[in-house]
This record gives sequence, C-alpha cells and structure tokens, in this order.
Amino acid sequence: MYLLEEAIINPLKNCSAQKKIKSINSNIIESAKLFELITNNSTDLIILYNRDFSIIYISPSVKRVLGYEQFEIIGKKTDDIFAVHEPLKSDEPQIMAYRHKFKADRILLESVIKPVIVNGVIDCYLGISRDVAVRENLKRKLEQALKKEKAINETKSKFISMASHELKNPLATISSSLELLSIYLQDDEHLKKVKLEKHITRINTQLERLNGIINEVLLIEKTKAQNSEVKLEKLDLIDFIRQLIKESFTESHLDKIKIKSKESIIHISSNKILLYHIFKNLIENAIKYSKPDKLKIQIIIEVSDIYVEVSVKDHGIGVSSAEKDKLFNQFYRSDSASEVSGFGIGLTIVKECATMLNAKVSFRSALNKGSSFKVCLLKLV
Ligand code: ADP
Repeated sequence: MYLLEEAIINPLKNCSAQKKIKSINSNIIESAKLFELITNNSTDLIILYNRDFSIIYISPSVKRVLGYEQFEIIGKKTDDIFAVHEPLKSDEPQIMAYRHKFKADRILLESVIKPVIVNGVIDCYLGISRDVAVRENLKRKLEQALKKEKAINETKSKFISMASHELKNPLATISSSLELLSIYLQDDEHLKKVKLEKHITRINTQLERLNGIINEVLLIEKTKAQNSEVKLEKLDLIDFIRQLIKESFTESHLDKIKIKSKESIIHISSNKILLYHIFKNLIENAIKYSKPDKLKIQIIIEVSDIYVEVSVKDHGIGVSSAEKDKLFNQFYRSDSASEVSGFGIGLTIVKECATMLNAKVSFRSALNKGSSFKVCLLKLV
C-alpha cells in the first residue's frame, strides 16, 4: 500500500520541483533582461562601488557620458580615472566636474551615493550620476539675469531717491519765488523792479540746474547707446583744458585752479565733446568736495612715451576706502558727500566718455585729506 503511494506521489513531487526550478530560471532570465534593458538605455550612470570605492559595475552609458568603455573603469577607483576625489558618502546630491576622455568639455555630474546594507552591514555602494550641464548652465544664466535685474532695480530706486531730493529743491525754490513775485507786483515801481530781478535770477539759476541734471542723465543714455565711431581730431590738450576752465568756472574759482606741466604744448588725437565732459566733471567735483578754506585744485599733466596722464587733485573731503569701489556706480553718493548737493552721475559720465576714448580713469583718495582723479589718454605719436 505504502509502496504504491510512494510510487504515485514521488513523480508528482519531482514534477512540481522541476516546475519551480524552471520558473525560477525564467524569473532570473527575465530579471537579467530587465536589468540589461534598464542599464543599456539609461542616460544616467549607474555605478556599484565596493566598500573601498573601487568600481564593481558601471552602466554602458559611461561611453556616451564620459567616453570610456566599461572595461576601462571596472575594478578601478573614480579618482584613478577621472582625477576626482572619492565619492562623498552622503545622501545629498553632489555636483562634481569630470573630463570627457576625448572631448575638451567639462562635464558636470550630479551624483547620489547610497550604501547597500546586507545583514545589517554596508556591503557596497550604489551610485546614480546624471549629466546636469544644461540645467546648471540655465541656472547660471537665470542667476546672472536676476543679478542684472536686481542691479537695475537698485539703480532705479537710487534714481528715484536722488530725483526726489535733487529735483524737488529747485522746484520748491522756483515755486516760492513765483509766489513772492505775484505779491511784489503790488509794490511801487522801483521796489518792484529790484525784488522782481532778484527772484527772476533765482528762478533762472534753478532752471539751469534742473536743465543741467536732465542733460547729464540724457548724456549717459546717449553715450551708452552710441555704437558709432568717435570722431577724433588733433588738439593741444593744455590749451583745451585752459579754455575749458575759463569758460566753465566762475571768476572766484579761476585763481584756485592751477595747471602743472613740464611741456607747454601736448598734442593728442581726441574728441573735444567727450574730453569736455570728463574734465568739467572732475574739476567741478574737486571744487564741490573741497572746503572753501582748502580750495586748491591742481591739474597735473605728465607725458610718457605713449600716454598723457592728467590728474585733477584736490585737498577736499575725500572718500573712505570702503566706498572706493562704488564711486563710479550710477547715482552713488558717498556718505562724506551728504552735505554737498549732487546727483551721483558726474563720475558715470566721466567713465562712459573715457571708455569711448579708450582712456583709463583711476583715482586715489583719503578721507579728509583729498583726492586725485587720473585720466590716462593716448598721446599722438
Ligand atoms: P555727484 O558729485 O553729483 O554726487 P559724481 O558721480 O560726480 O556725483 O560723484 C559720485 C560721488 O563720488 C560723490 O557723491 C562723492 O561722494 C564722490 N566724489 C567724487 N569726486 C570727489 C572728490 N573730488 N572728492 C571727494 N569725493 C568725491
């Protein structure tokens, strides 16, 4: 009876074991196919590291991403091949730069490395690396655009605060003078004339000031937009500066401004309009930022083989070293200048005009000691 049972059940048992083995085998084949499908088609790099970070496996995508064959990499450590440090054992994505084997490109890979735990201990590490160059480039461009936008907004708000201060004052003077004029119209003839003249002069001065500010702002925009070639002409620099001082500054300032030069004639090839804006602004600032008892401006002209250097030197209030980098920024005014009226565009004009002439502007300044702004022009040889 027993033998009969054995004889009947055993073949049945054997049959189901064989079925199980068959199904396991087909599962393994399926898994292997699936694994191959994933790794062959993955655009990411799939890497398996030993505990010492030598590479056990790397997906074929390494050929496309870094130009290497799988066999060149397996068994090696990343820093043997790519000269990068050992992958960081962190769950956070890390971006590192790699070199392609053949192309000169720098490749940015973002990698995540995770330990593979078997029986409670780290058996190996699994890493996934992705080429993020396009994304990082876009991010950099967006950051730059944002920075530019921020700078524009800062300039705008500086302009508004300057404008509200610098434009409001002349307007307030004009409006109060006009009010007084209408009252004085009722006075007797002589008194009326004297008072009217005084206020008409005040109105004209303030209108000139407003006009000057508007013209300077427009000049910056014009020079920035101008791509056309600057027309150059031969001129004597010393004579030009002498004329400029005579025509642009009041009698009371003339004897405070001295030109110092070993040569009596210096020919340069330049543009009179641009030179005018450069030196008018520098000399105006030298006067503006000097206390009346220390008003002594020197214009020092030095000639070398190819350059003419013109320094406008004063003994005025100067600027602190912390502010030096910002001085040429549009609408920037230093703390030391708060008591002097200004719009923060004079030096921007100087810089723009100098750029158009291929001239360099530099300066030295010490708080409460004075400043010296130097313009380096090309000499006519
Ligand atoms: P503004 O004189 O109208 O303020 P500028 O662009 O000419 O505008 O100058 C910018 C700032 O640079 C000034 O506000 C002042 O703080 C500083 N600055 C320029 N020139 C001098 C100078 N010669 N001495 C001291 N500070 C100066």
